[in-house]
Amino acid sequence: MDRFDPNTIGVRSGHFIGGAYVDEAGPRIDVARPSDGVVYASLPVADAAMIDRAVQNAWTAWRTSGWARIAPRERARVLRRFADLVAADAQTLAPLEALGSTRPIRDTFNWDVPFTAEGIRFYAEFADKIGGDVVATDHDHLGMTIAEPYGVIGAIAPWNFPLVMASWKIAPALAAGNAVVLKPSEMTPFSVLRLAELAVEAGVPPGIFNVVQGDGRTTGDALVRHPRIAKVTFTGSTRTGAAIMAACAETGTKPVTLELGGKSPQIVFADAPRLDDVARRIAGAITANAGQVCVAGSRLLVERSIADGLADRIQRIFSELKAGPTWTPGATLPPIISEPQAARIEGIVERSVASGAQLHCGGQRADAATPGAFYTPTLLTHVTQQTPAVREEIFGPVLTLQTFDTEDEALELAAHPDYGLAAGVHTADLGRALRMVRGIEAGTVWVNRYGRTSDFMIPTGGYKRSGLGKDLGRQAYEANLRFKSVLIDARV
Ligand code: NAD
Repeated sequence: MDRFDPNTIGVRSGHFIGGAYVDEAGPRIDVARPSDGVVYASLPVADAAMIDRAVQNAWTAWRTSGWARIAPRERARVLRRFADLVAADAQTLAPLEALGSTRPIRDTFNWDVPFTAEGIRFYAEFADKIGGDVVATDHDHLGMTIAEPYGVIGAIAPWNFPLVMASWKIAPALAAGNAVVLKPSEMTPFSVLRLAELAVEAGVPPGIFNVVQGDGRTTGDALVRHPRIAKVTFTGSTRTGAAIMAACAETGTKPVTLELGGKSPQIVFADAPRLDDVARRIAGAITANAGQVCVAGSRLLVERSIADGLADRIQRIFSELKAGPTWTPGATLPPIISEPQAARIEGIVERSVASGAQLHCGGQRADAATPGAFYTPTLLTHVTQQTPAVREEIFGPVLTLQTFDTEDEALELAAHPDYGLAAGVHTADLGRALRMVRGIEAGTVWVNRYGRTSDFMIPTGGYKRSGLGKDLGRQAYEANLRFKSVLIDARV
């Protein structure tokens, strides 16, 4: 699928609680299509009472439905069916996702939806793999750990990949036998409702996977503070992550998984093979989803001798991108999620130029057929570690370029005072690559590539203020379990 008519897509609003839609009078939020700013639906805002209803419902379902107690292979079977239904629903889910987000239809159809389905399948396969251990004791005792679900997990997701980010939370939580109450971003709230419907259709008991709608201050805060929420898993900005961590500490020392912001460096040495390919990789890592990616490679650090050649190649690739709405086939540069976010990008670029940075290219709004907020891919040179565009997470297609002469200098520039989410190293020298991998303080380092493969076993997560804990991999599954120690004395 490479196009659709946005005016033919209807959405179900409301909360999804106990397997049914719930909508009540009260304040609502208008929801706009990022591609053209058209308000296409409104959203109820769950208050503390609605959150209590959702969480109590989830708690009751968790206690009574048997989801936590059934044979793990049976849970896995239900979740595999859920994955199959998601994959088979691409004709509905992909346009729904593209309509309300910045994800082009070609990508939602070929990647976001299949990747969401595959993530659910991946964690379904974990359901009977980790049950705890028998530990070494003397022969008069039997010691063991038993892996147990937490109960009700509160999950909060961002807007940049609404389905995929939500699936990274719900899939391991459900597979481990928990119930989930998910709050999507108020800017991209609808596609996950379809996920919740499909979960029930697959046989996940009603009430085990719930969706509550609303903003962060009212709904998100009430969710993480609810006493029956046993653990919180969050993806979003570092500032919100810190607020959630504080709320979790105040309301029950709840464990938290936090996937937060980044300002990831891309380090290119002069020996990197095939500079044209490198340029494409660097450009792709800052323009995919118009830079609205937590691991966007936003700081280019390049060995001085090749800096000019690389900058010119990147500029050429940037100029090939065509801004356009997510529902048109030729668009390769999607919109910025909202006008305020586009204005924020503009502001950071302006402050950077005012402080001495030079615009190699970009730095303005891009023309598109629709009135959405589009921003041209931008390359800023003559920047320092203090330049706003080097320090602040922009979440837009803005790349800064700094040069270095030595490995030590590259490492020094790569270190960000706050963030440590990801990094890329491009070199033909394996020894050098390994020295950089060891020297960079980040949760992920890619060598001669940038971005994930489809290997779900590789976890993702940040160092420093980029986060706490991991999504994906075995780690994310285990993070949805708590381990009970049991010691049986056989001498009685
Ligand atoms: P955000 O922090 O503004 O919002 C994220 C979610 O938190 C939304 O659902 C929002 O409603 C909710 N929220 C806001 N305030 C809250 C509060 N006080 N209590 C509870 N919930 C609250 O982030 P965003 O703008 O939606 O997403 C962009 C950010 O997400 C970027 O910083 C990006 O780097 C980060 N991100 C990180 C990863 C990762 O894996 N590390 C992945 C994607 C996005």
